[in-house]
Amino acid sequence: MRQGGVEMVNQEILSIIHLCHDLDNSAHFIYSQFAEREEFPEKTRLFWRNVTNDEKMHVRFWEQVEALAEKGDLPQLFSDPEETLRDLGDVANKGAQLEERACNIESIREALLIAYAMEIHLLHPAFETFFHFFNKSMGVDSPAQGYDKHLQKFLSVAGECSFAPLELKLFEDIFNRILKVNRELVVTSNTDMLTGTYNRRGFFSLIHVLGESARRRKEDVGILLMDIDHFKRINDTHGHQAGDVVLSGVAKCIQETVRASDVVGRYGGEEFIVFLPDVQPDTLEVVGEKIRASIIQDSQEILPITISIGGAKLRPMEGMKEELEKTIAKADKLLYRAKESGRNRVIVQND
Ligand code: GH3
Ligand code: MG
Ligand code: MG
Repeated sequence: MRQGGVEMVNQEILSIIHLCHDLDNSAHFIYSQFAEREEFPEKTRLFWRNVTNDEKMHVRFWEQVEALAEKGDLPQLFSDPEETLRDLGDVANKGAQLEERACNIESIREALLIAYAMEIHLLHPAFETFFHFFNKSMGVDSPAQGYDKHLQKFLSVAGECSFAPLELKLFEDIFNRILKVNRELVVTSNTDMLTGTYNRRGFFSLIHVLGESARRRKEDVGILLMDIDHFKRINDTHGHQAGDVVLSGVAKCIQETVRASDVVGRYGGEEFIVFLPDVQPDTLEVVGEKIRASIIQDSQEILPITISIGGAKLRPMEGMKEELEKTIAKADKLLYRAKESGRNRVIVQND
């Protein structure tokens, strides 16, 4: 039953990836058509060749993501995948219609209008979601970094196609607004607002993707699970608001201590979790101790606190999702042992 559920989720995400891929294929087709229009000046054709190349890169991105998704174990990145599928299906149809129109254009201006419509479709929030989770740590070249530049290219040629400054400004505002809203949407739905760390959803989506990446590189990954000691007392003595300040201070401390490639999440009320890609035999102990010490150091002058930490690691293998869950359960047991044996300590799996 559980297995069946997992397969369904994978099928949905795979279909979403296919539709994104279709849309970028449409864009690639359209721009390459324009690049071949002999009546366009050489300079304009050069521009279309340039954006066709961008699209070639985007299409390659989907091929890589597709290959990963087909192997399974890709997390569900969408809160309502069916709705995303319906919506993207609509957009992909519009992309296909634009392909037809692109074959019968009469002016550069018309070509550019079709391209603008295409780029607006390509700003569907699903794209930003994938860019966010398949960043460079995945070893996949994500279009995310260059996306602003890609859009800017379309605006930079518009002046030569008899667009009025006001029209140009309108397109610029639309592109920027959608891009900004999309990015905010991805961040807010995956971030814990109090601490700025990933929330559970963001954390698990990301580590499932990174777990797959570690599996390909045959590297061990680690989990550190931590819980603030006697946190109830802080709330009881100083109030809930002071408790919240302590929580965000601890989160900041953890984030500043670990590497940028590690992933920090808020696991529960005052529990944090860190995923470490590529751990060596002593990494968990070293990093755990560093976090423990830096929290003591950081809090001593305001409101002294300590933290207990449990750590476990894993050699990535098939079925990473379940394996990661088991590793977190192991870290949780060791965290419990750290609490039982006096708190303010780090206990990691010893092998
Ligand atoms: P222990 O050393 O055993 O961990 O003791 P503890 O008091 O920390 O016990 P426990 O971990 O069970 O307590 C968690 C407390 O954290 C309970 C709850 O009041 C508090 N808490 C959970 N979420 C928040 C939050 O968002 N803000 C604040 N201020 N407190 C929170
Ligand atoms: Mg707790
Ligand atoms: Mg606690």
